[in-house]
Amino acid sequence: MSSACRASGITDGTIGLRARVPLHRVESAGGPGARVDPRARYSRHVSSPTAPAALSLAQVRRVYPGGRVALADVTLRIAAGEFVSLLGPSGCGKSTVLRLLSGLDLPTSGTISRDLPDGAVPGYVFQDAALMPWASVRRNVELPLMLRGANAQQMRGPVDAALRAVGLADSADAVPRELSGGMKMRASMARALVMSPRVWLLDEPFGALDEITRFALNQTLLSLCKPLDGGKPATAVFVTHSVYEAVFLSERVVVMGRPGRIVDEVAVDAPYPRDAAFRATPKFAALCAQVSDALQRASVAEAGA
Ligand code: ADP
Ligand code: MG
Repeated sequence: MSSACRASGITDGTIGLRARVPLHRVESAGGPGARVDPRARYSRHVSSPTAPAALSLAQVRRVYPGGRVALADVTLRIAAGEFVSLLGPSGCGKSTVLRLLSGLDLPTSGTISRDLPDGAVPGYVFQDAALMPWASVRRNVELPLMLRGANAQQMRGPVDAALRAVGLADSADAVPRELSGGMKMRASMARALVMSPRVWLLDEPFGALDEITRFALNQTLLSLCKPLDGGKPATAVFVTHSVYEAVFLSERVVVMGRPGRIVDEVAVDAPYPRDAAFRATPKFAALCAQVSDALQRASVAEAGA
C-alpha cells in the first residue's frame, strides 16, 4: 500500500506506536534473517530511477518553531531493498529526515511517501539504546508486541527469534545495567526486529561504540537486512558520522550539508554479503576517499555560503 503525507496534511495511519498490527504478523515473525544461506551472495543494484521506491521525500522543507531551517529542500528516493547511508556534519538534518520518514514528524512543505504493507512499521533504532532500565532484555524486546496487544504465548517465539538473531539469546534475563554498550545496542535492535521490519531507520546507532564492537554490529545489521525467502533485502536508511561505516554498509552514500540539503551521492558498487575482506580492498579505500572528499566539499561550500 502506498501512502503519502503532505505538509500539515494527512498521516498514513500505518505508522506510529499506536498502529495496530494483526497478530498473525506477530506469530509469523519468527527467525528473522535466518532463512537464507549466510554465504549466498546477492546484489542490491536497485538505485535506478525505475526501481519501485519504498521511501521518498520530494522537495521537503522542515522549519522548526522558532524559525530553525532543519531541511531547506530535500528530494531523495530510496528504492525497495536499497541500503542508503546519510552522512553529514551535525545539524545538517539527518535525524529530521529519519523522523519524517518514520511518520513521527511532518514536513513544513513537500511530500513524504512510504510504501509499506498494511499495519507494518519501520524498525527505528536510535543512538541511545533507550531501554527500560528496570526491565530484563526479554521484557524490553517484548514492548512493541505488548503495545499491540500480544499475549505472553504470542510473544515468546518472535522474541526468542529476535534475541537469537542479534546474539543475545543467553542474556534474555539480564537487565540493561549488566550489559555492555554493544549488548545494549543489540537489545535495541532486537526490540525493532521483533516486528519483522522490512524497512529500517537507524540514527547513528553505533556512534558510541568502540571500533571492534561497531564492526561486529555492522555485520549483524547486514545479516538482519538480508533477503528472506528469495525476496528483496530489507530497505535501510542509516545515519552515521563514519565514512568507513557508510561505505561498508551501503549501496549508496548520500552526503548532506547545512542547512538541510543533499550535496552529493556516491554509489558503492560491491556485492553483499560484505565482510572484513571488503574493508581491505583497494576499491573500499577508493570509495572512502571519494566520500571523504564529498564531505569535505560539503563543508567548504557551507563555509562559503
Ligand atoms: P542532525 O541529525 O544532522 O545532527 P537534526 O536533524 O537533529 O540534525 O537537526 C537539524 C537542525 O534542526 C539543527 O540545527 C537542530 O538544532 C534543529 N532542530 C532539530 N530538532 C529541533 C526541534 N525540535 N526544535 C528546533 N530545532 C530543532
Ligand atoms: Mg542527529
